[in-house]
Amino acid sequence: MCGVVGIIGPDEAAKEVFLGLFTLQHRGQDASGILSYQDGEGPGFHIYKDNGLVESVFSGEAVNRLPGRMAIGHTRYSTVGTSDNKTDIQPLVLNYPYGIGMAHNGNLVNYHQLVQKLKNEKKRMPLTNNDLEVIQNLFADALLSVSDGAEKLQFSQIGQAVKEVMSQAVGGFSVISMIAGQGMLAFRDPKGIRPLVIGRRDTMVKDASGSLVKKDAYCLSSETSLLSFLGYEVIGDLEAGELVFINLEGKLERKVLLQEGKAKHCMFEWVYFAGAESTLEKQPVYTARLNLGKGLAAKIKDLIKAGEMNPEIVVPVPETSRIAAISLSEDLGIPYREVLIKNRYIQRSFILNTPEKRAKAVDLKLNPVRSEIAGKNVLLVDDSIVRGTTSKRLVDLVRRAGAKEVYFVSTCSPIRYPCYYGIDFPNPEELIATGRDEQQIAQALNADKVVYLDQESLQDAIGVKDMCMACLDSRYPTDISAGEVFRQKRLGDRVR
Ligand code: SF4
Repeated sequence: MCGVVGIIGPDEAAKEVFLGLFTLQHRGQDASGILSYQDGEGPGFHIYKDNGLVESVFSGEAVNRLPGRMAIGHTRYSTVGTSDNKTDIQPLVLNYPYGIGMAHNGNLVNYHQLVQKLKNEKKRMPLTNNDLEVIQNLFADALLSVSDGAEKLQFSQIGQAVKEVMSQAVGGFSVISMIAGQGMLAFRDPKGIRPLVIGRRDTMVKDASGSLVKKDAYCLSSETSLLSFLGYEVIGDLEAGELVFINLEGKLERKVLLQEGKAKHCMFEWVYFAGAESTLEKQPVYTARLNLGKGLAAKIKDLIKAGEMNPEIVVPVPETSRIAAISLSEDLGIPYREVLIKNRYIQRSFILNTPEKRAKAVDLKLNPVRSEIAGKNVLLVDDSIVRGTTSKRLVDLVRRAGAKEVYFVSTCSPIRYPCYYGIDFPNPEELIATGRDEQQIAQALNADKVVYLDQESLQDAIGVKDMCMACLDSRYPTDISAGEVFRQKRLGDRVR
């Protein structure tokens, strides 16, 4: 999972991208990068990227060296390679047949097949382990064959090239790209698995004579929170399989190029990944999370009535589950207590990519309030239980603080199958729910009871009809015949 942003129009687009990246930091914390483009004489592209959080990578000086009226930015969450490997940091740049800068969020199921094809048929030698490099090469090749190196590209030519990418690349991907001398494009995979939104606002720019003139500025982003933060009016989500192109004069064109049946948006965006202030597919993330808590409350009321549990306080696991825990507590009439105090300088633990790092992070980042926990039956609320490493540590932490009984509830249904679309759970054997029922999971977590929201209630709570839930029910929205190779290679290449 990563965050992407692209801005075209304002005089200092990279400065806006830099600010915007802070609102996408939760989507990836391994690396950050910005690529800007200045039309006219000179080198055109300017890039700065490194491992680390946005704040630590970019000094004001670095951003000042990124001129031009269009720029793209990226926050990286690495699923392959080493997290200190700098070659995989985005954006990536290709200089043939046009200067093409690109950033994306997602994964290709058939990445390894496409790499082989590029090597064998096109004699390309990939420089990274990054799916984006494959997308970029497919796009560059297709663009060359449809444009014949034309000075000014037509929207239809860019569309043909993107459609070729969509027909070859199998997976979930949202891509933002700049073509030197042409403009900015963005597209979403044919199932719309990964999110991508667009917004517009007026901007004042200097014309050739130095006078200020009003122009359209556009912003593309993984989430709407970034658009509102920078003052862009939300136009909406790109549709599944849709291409948007904005040329250097600010003319916007858009078209759905390829759709295969119904869209399948990743449910995990509402459950965990997206910022609570964002709205995706017209469904506010905050509302979805409130509803997740209400759905759980209905189930827990029955368990209390049946004498299977007797919670005395509702405790959220910071940060994501807080909203669901509030509505859960309201509906149950049981006090809500924020008694796991977070050290805000430690990264989100699920996003950390090795079990050792995750385990360490829980110990470092949360301090329990013993005076409120000791002697009570605690209902711990988390957004999901993935590998169980973090969940078990949390149960132990609360027990050590003196809790009488500890119940662990998850707003997400049991995750039992791998994700091939950009979330780092490729190995079902690592998922605690694989091959275990709720009682066995409770045992493995050392909890007195584990409660999950069922899949139907999860869907109702989010309120989006067409969602991918493949990690819950193995109904994958794309061909996954290349999935086994993907899994084995990913496990071999896994972030160390
Ligand atoms: S498999 Fe799960 S995590 Fe992956 S895209 Fe589908 S819903 Fe999201």
